[in-house]
Amino acid sequence: MERKVRVRFAPSPTGPLHIGGVRTALYNYLFARQHGGDMILRIEDTDSQRFVPGAEDYINESLKWLGIKIDEGVREGGKYGPYKQSERRDIYREHVKMLLDNGKAYMAFDTPAELEEARATRPNFQYDASTRMSMRNSLSLPADEVKRLLDEGAQYVVRFKIEPGRDVVVNDLLRGNVTINSSVLDDKVLYKSADDLPTYHLANIVDDHLMEVSHVIRGEEWLPSAPLHVLLYEAFGWGDTRPDFVHLPLLLKPDGKGKLSKRDGDRLGFPVFPLEWHDPKSGEISSGYRETGYLPEAVVNFLALLGWNPGDDSEIMNMEELIKKFTLEHCSRSGARFDFEKGKWFNHKYLQEVSDEKLAEMFVPILKANGVNPDDYGMDYIARAVGMVKGRINFVKDLWDQAKFFFVEPTEYAAKDVKKRWNADMPRIMGELVEELKKAPDMTSNVLEQEILGWIAENGYHTGNVMNAFRLTVVGECKGPHMFDITELMGKDETIRRIELGIERIKPAE
Ligand code: GLU
Repeated sequence: MERKVRVRFAPSPTGPLHIGGVRTALYNYLFARQHGGDMILRIEDTDSQRFVPGAEDYINESLKWLGIKIDEGVREGGKYGPYKQSERRDIYREHVKMLLDNGKAYMAFDTPAELEEARATRPNFQYDASTRMSMRNSLSLPADEVKRLLDEGAQYVVRFKIEPGRDVVVNDLLRGNVTINSSVLDDKVLYKSADDLPTYHLANIVDDHLMEVSHVIRGEEWLPSAPLHVLLYEAFGWGDTRPDFVHLPLLLKPDGKGKLSKRDGDRLGFPVFPLEWHDPKSGEISSGYRETGYLPEAVVNFLALLGWNPGDDSEIMNMEELIKKFTLEHCSRSGARFDFEKGKWFNHKYLQEVSDEKLAEMFVPILKANGVNPDDYGMDYIARAVGMVKGRINFVKDLWDQAKFFFVEPTEYAAKDVKKRWNADMPRIMGELVEELKKAPDMTSNVLEQEILGWIAENGYHTGNVMNAFRLTVVGECKGPHMFDITELMGKDETIRRIELGIERIKPAE
């Protein structure tokens, strides 16, 4: 019988979620939704040393912002809870006991100093079948000694007793069978009595089993742990219900050389975190996609295509389409180069889908920050201005550069345009243009255009020169949307005022 698809995203709250982790969460989500399955969010916080306050909220907020919906988790609840590992101590204790009772694990009393000594004095020391009998553990020590140590309250760890010389096969749905000999594995620590907590390996396996996880989809960095996990499933007698593994390829630096790091982002000016992160210890602030001005839909689309392709040439796909199209078969096995310019392109594309009215609302705080009172213009004016320039923006914040002239008159005029377009005749010709405008009955773009072009022709002026000088006075430089669309929105009085200001202020280049 086909088992129900149940996947989990299992981050450790040790800091902000990296963009690679977000991609892992997204692939899990797409896979779950496509198969009508469940998406679990499990917080793996058994490493108390590395716990960072705020990280769990950050994870939740990030997934919410991106539209990755969780079916079962700390906030959502669910019948397999608790979903935070630090709240599952009893469960782990019980499972550690199972392994100790059936001889698959043992207690080790070696102190940190003794381990240090072993590492320092024996070449390539590894705690395993070849060395364990020379160490202090429940296999090497007499039973009464072990009992005495426990009665005394000595601290110990529980280690997995790995049988050497076995080929362990990890069946990865992306990579096929990956075989590793058990002799290279060490007797991993599964539990520490000092903090009464399991390590990642034990907690992860026990939870995947108890939560009936069907597919473990995670980053490639976890592939080396997979043979150990396979052996743990066997040790518990759960080999038959072991989840399928999928180890996703790394996200690579933009030049393709090596793993993407925060430093690449700092160096090249792009975020590697979904949301801005304020480090509680150092106070350092790391930029996030949200605060940089990305739309969540664009980030999702961009990330989906880093390591997966739809099998055709579609690029713009919203969450719904991604869910329909996603397949593990089309996930790549090799690393995906992090092309952040492509990320901007996606944002540009998604911004074009946002209505002018909505974009205008997003622009309001930026207007205010630049000292413009939106009420002086009204939302309709702002929306029309935004509509004219949105084709030129990658981010909402770019609207200011592109549309500020709709709100503030130019105070400077681009030197190279002045040089090219403003000769000694221009003040006079612009003066005539003012008179034409005063007479114009209608500022509607195409009507005024006819009229002004007619006037230019009648006088034998050069269209390009006159129109560019006109633009220079109104916009401050020779670029921007269609000139007569601008003047239609600005209105007659403001257009005339700006031409007159230009005549006064622009000095012909020598
Ligand atoms: N807690 C691990 C992490 O931080 C989970 C790895 C896994 O998915 O098994 O990514």
